[in-house]
Amino acid sequence: MAGIDIEGLATVYPNGVRAVDGLDLHVADGEFFALLGPSGCGKTTLLRTIAGLEAASEGTVRIDATDVTRTEPGKRGVAMVFQDYALFPHMSVSENITYPLKVRRVAAATRLEVASRTAGELSLDGLLERKPGQLSGGQQQRVALARAIASEGKVLLLDEPLSNLDARLRLEARTFLKKLQRDLGITTVFVTHDQAEALALADRIAVMDSGKLRQLGSPREVFARPANTFVANFIGSTPMNLLPGKVLGDGTVSVAGGSLPATTVSTPADAEVTVGIRPEYLTLSTGDVSGPSLRGEVVVAENLGTQSLVSVDCDGTLIGVTVPEETEPAPGAPVALTAPASRVLLYTQETGELLN
Ligand code: ATP
Repeated sequence: MAGIDIEGLATVYPNGVRAVDGLDLHVADGEFFALLGPSGCGKTTLLRTIAGLEAASEGTVRIDATDVTRTEPGKRGVAMVFQDYALFPHMSVSENITYPLKVRRVAAATRLEVASRTAGELSLDGLLERKPGQLSGGQQQRVALARAIASEGKVLLLDEPLSNLDARLRLEARTFLKKLQRDLGITTVFVTHDQAEALALADRIAVMDSGKLRQLGSPREVFARPANTFVANFIGSTPMNLLPGKVLGDGTVSVAGGSLPATTVSTPADAEVTVGIRPEYLTLSTGDVSGPSLRGEVVVAENLGTQSLVSVDCDGTLIGVTVPEETEPAPGAPVALTAPASRVLLYTQETGELLN
């Protein structure tokens, strides 16, 4: 069982930056796990500390139940793919793929066999004699993956593996990577700053900020119930509406001149909160609605493809709501917004932690 267990981990650079600042994390055997966060949050440092390329200052890293905190990188059973792929330009694809085996003095005939099998798995057949300079970006990325897989590590570590590909290739490579990981069942940790990529690929996501974990959960959990306003702001292709509000005693919350239903059992009446609601979970109506709602006027609609993001001015506050394309009302139209209580999140105004 090649899980990864991280306990109390801190990585402090010589300049005093605590890039990883007291982390506990368990990655299960066979899991596809994403480290997500803004630039500088410490995700690459965490990955490099798991790989042994940075030394842990505090805490422990266990791989497959073995403490590897002080083990050199080559003996940890990890295979890493770097952002720039780090292929050897003077070696052929075949030699690149089998380089880790050559270092381990595996016989040439076996290396050839592994190269041809791995090339098959990664759709690189026919390219084995080429040099990296004669490959497309997507092919180079697959060679880097092939090399990692051929090294037979227990754990695959990927640092922004898709960031050097253009938008279309990136989508293709994403599907390919997900299928490959499923087929191989290898425990994989990948770093990304792209939340859409993390949501699409990962079984679970760790959202990081300033070297610390801000939320750990499935893509569905971090999208639907961000644990704090930091994660709420970071996740989602359309930004979550975060609005000042006040809890009323009757299971509603007053916000933007109107009210919405909310689960308020854990919050006292009159508490000042930040109300979080995703544009996808609001319903826009042009006719009459009953029950708690927000009333406002359409300001503008942006086309998102199959949906439109409509901005509604509710008592001076702009609120985003998504509607199916070609159903957006004209600017100036009076509308009402409603939402089910389960989708209306309440956060403390002080620390931004989820209350309900
Ligand atoms: P990015 O997405 O931009 O790569 P990241 O989340 O991967 O960012 P890290 O590269 O791990 O973040 O950096 C975390 C913090 O550590 C940053 O403040 C960075 O400036 C600092 N840092 C990174 N490498 C070093 C280093 N070698 N020496 C000193 N500080 C460093």
